[in-house]
Amino acid sequence: MNEFSNRFEGSFLGANDKISAQAIMECKVCWSPYDPAEGDDYRQVEPGTAFTDLPDDWSCPNCSAPKEQFMVLEDPGSEAATEAAQLDGVTARLVADFREIWHSKMRDVPMVNKLLTVEAVGFRIVDGRPLGVLISPWFMNLIQLPGEDEDWTDLVAGEKELVAFPSGEYEFIHNTREQIGGYKACSLFSPMGEFKSQMQAQEVAAAVMVALFDAGNRAETDRAADIRAAREAELAPERDDPPMLRDAPSRRAVITAGMAEQG
Ligand code: FE
Repeated sequence: MNEFSNRFEGSFLGANDKISAQAIMECKVCWSPYDPAEGDDYRQVEPGTAFTDLPDDWSCPNCSAPKEQFMVLEDPGSEAATEAAQLDGVTARLVADFREIWHSKMRDVPMVNKLLTVEAVGFRIVDGRPLGVLISPWFMNLIQLPGEDEDWTDLVAGEKELVAFPSGEYEFIHNTREQIGGYKACSLFSPMGEFKSQMQAQEVAAAVMVALFDAGNRAETDRAADIRAAREAELAPERDDPPMLRDAPSRRAVITAGMAEQG
């Protein structure tokens, strides 16, 4: 609790210790806003001054109502914090669940890349749902999780669905896990043999999240395959084979989910 807690009680209904430095406040008496981005010319408050950093004797520039008569109009900082907390929770459960799989049944499977670990990269809320990339030693998938008011426990494993993003439509496969419930996954890479390090996998995952939302990438083709091919091309220069030989086979190997390598 901070020093403002009691004074703000009733003005912004219990949100008093949750307002961020970006909170835009509004006078309850005359509806004049205080926007930290603008400050207050009248009392020479510099732009960038948070409402909570205003002097104790600051009052409404319009009607002189005291500071405690202000309420939250909008708080982007608090919304971002809420979203971040939501994402932290779901990605932690996702990672814990797949680490469990990694340390149990996947540990000694020949196709795994032991240079890699399970990690969630670039998760954010898209259309109300957490979306990001999950890296593991045996796959890299785009993962979509249910929104806070959605129940995906009844998803039928293996069912396919096209999900639209600015760069195009992507095929996601439904799945459920006891710990995390329902989720939808779009395969980007499997297996992960070509990755030399976790950092390299992180960079590719981050690039996928950018490419996914780039409408400039849009084309009437299999977008997931195109992104895979583009990332393959980024990885490829580390190899010595001539370009003609390296591009075609590596793309096919990825699209066929490792069958080419096994064969
Ligand atoms: Fe006022």
